[in-house]
Amino acid sequence: MKHFGLNIWGDDNFIIEDDTIHINHASRPSLLKLTQEIRTKGHKGPILLRFPHLIKKQISTLFKTFEKAKKEIDYQGDFHAVFPLKVNQFPNFINTLMDVSGEYNYGLEAGSKAELIIAMTKTPLGAPITVNGFKDKEMISLCFIAAKMGHNITITIEGVGELQTIIEVNTIFNKETEEAIAPKIGVRIRLHSSGIGIWAKSGGYSSKFGLTSTELLEAYEMLLENDLLSHFWMIHFHIGSQMSDIVPLKKALREAGNIYAELKKRGADELTAINIGGGLAVEYSQHSGNADRNYSLDEFANDVVYLMQDIARSKGVAEPDIFTESGRFIAASHAVLIAPVLELFSQEYHEKGLRLKEENPPLIQELYELFISLKRKNAREYLHDALDHMESLLTLFDLGYIDLEDRSNTEILVNLIIKKAISLLKNEGSDELVRLQNRIQEKYLVNFSIFQSLPDFWGLAQQFPIVPLDKLDITPSNPATIWDITCDSDGEIGFKRELPLYLHDIDVNKEEYFLGFFLTGAYQEVLGMQHNLFTHPTEAVINFDDEGNYSIDSLTDAEDLMDVLDNLNYDTNALDKLLKQRIAESQMITEEEKRELLGKLYLYLSENSYLKTIQAQNETIQGPKK
Ligand SMILES: *Cc1c(COP(=O)(O)O)cnc(C)c1O
Repeated sequence: MKHFGLNIWGDDNFIIEDDTIHINHASRPSLLKLTQEIRTKGHKGPILLRFPHLIKKQISTLFKTFEKAKKEIDYQGDFHAVFPLKVNQFPNFINTLMDVSGEYNYGLEAGSKAELIIAMTKTPLGAPITVNGFKDKEMISLCFIAAKMGHNITITIEGVGELQTIIEVNTIFNKETEEAIAPKIGVRIRLHSSGIGIWAKSGGYSSKFGLTSTELLEAYEMLLENDLLSHFWMIHFHIGSQMSDIVPLKKALREAGNIYAELKKRGADELTAINIGGGLAVEYSQHSGNADRNYSLDEFANDVVYLMQDIARSKGVAEPDIFTESGRFIAASHAVLIAPVLELFSQEYHEKGLRLKEENPPLIQELYELFISLKRKNAREYLHDALDHMESLLTLFDLGYIDLEDRSNTEILVNLIIKKAISLLKNEGSDELVRLQNRIQEKYLVNFSIFQSLPDFWGLAQQFPIVPLDKLDITPSNPATIWDITCDSDGEIGFKRELPLYLHDIDVNKEEYFLGFFLTGAYQEVLGMQHNLFTHPTEAVINFDDEGNYSIDSLTDAEDLMDVLDNLNYDTNALDKLLKQRIAESQMITEEEKRELLGKLYLYLSENSYLKTIQAQNETIQGPKK
């Protein structure tokens, strides 16, 4: 567990050297160095780092893999891709995405009006825009406006009613024109096959989206009657995110491929594309034997082109162009959340915390002697004695025979005995020891919010790789539970025996210890909630120049307290006035103290909600290193 499963989830993006984790690119700075550099600029609390080179890597891997798969079987259709905006709409991400993808004619997928505006402004003319999800007349009108700007835009209709609206809007927008300038039309089909996994509700017959075969035939006739058949060019499906198994995709491809061929034979001459949606999974697992997917990107691409070719050949139609809308696969790896550990909770179980008396209850005295005389050869026996004594002592407390100090001594001594026994017996690794070790797990209080930064852990128990940025030359021994700083007991990543996380024993009063949460670039940011009013963390973009040197760009601080309240529609001017007034009118303090308090108050109001780390009070402990 010294490498935290990096070989499983890391995809060669990071490398552990000496005692830290480095970016495996260009000058290979360590994450610790970047973090400390940002913190010396005065940013405290959690920090989200974005890596444009990893966005570029994912996009070029996707395109290259499909090109290779096509070449192998001499596939005739083209390959295109769009990025589904719902996966990450943050400007620092989208701007970078568009910057690094120019050579691929990469486009955007929008599922709402606001996303459509992003797509209309960020997609270069000619690059594809697809518009999915439920749409009203206004949203469809926006698509017509985009088409008239010259955008290569496709409306995917999700139901027959939507097509009716498109026909109406078309008559308004193309009243005068001989040749209609209108968006291209795609149709989402309702598959009888569906994906598997926790996200798989998007496909299948009970899905929210898509047309049945009957509706498809109806739509075909409506298009024909209204002179819009020449705009119908794409079949679309999406079987759900984070597809763990490839089999449902193959089923969906066969279904969609045959629908495509049937419609072409019926006379849909302009129908030339199949859009296979997203769903390409990301490997988040830190533990072997617990993989998130059973296929590689090569296999995925080979299956898609092979099946499409097979169907097209057997039905005697042209091989379709293939579109993907993979989002998670493109975005997940680009962002790493880094958060400082504020406190370890069982540090109170320290010998110096004992409050032994002149005369202790006999069982406590015995516990103490067990602790002092514990040796390798008697460790197991003494450990059992200690656990037995503990049960008796806790019962004695419940019955009123021993006091609170005795109980505290019991807790400390038993913990010390377990720890000492574990270290003496560590080569034996019996089940019992593992169980005991798990029982004395350490709680790490971390300066972040799970609700804000890992909402899929909270909502779906999605695991994210967690790695400390330091001490990676030492095998960690503390079974770890992570607590965030919200006042909610769900803000906890509990220790799991099946997927154990071990962290280092540290003294936070003497040294800083940061945890990296990896693969957080997809979905987490916009799904993140402001529970307890913890906001999107401070973020920075790490760019590399041609010489391989890095720069920390677009540093954006988390929102300050007043902006947070402003977003909730509080009248912050009134709040501000009231705070001032309360200080001014206070009968309890002098004029001088009032001025001082006002100064302090305004300083605090200009900061974000996250905690200043405990170490921040003691700047002398550790300068930047590495
Ligand atoms: C969400 C969504 C996607 C993206 O799925 P990923 O699993 O992130 O690749 C693609 N297409 C549609 C229609 C979607 O709703």
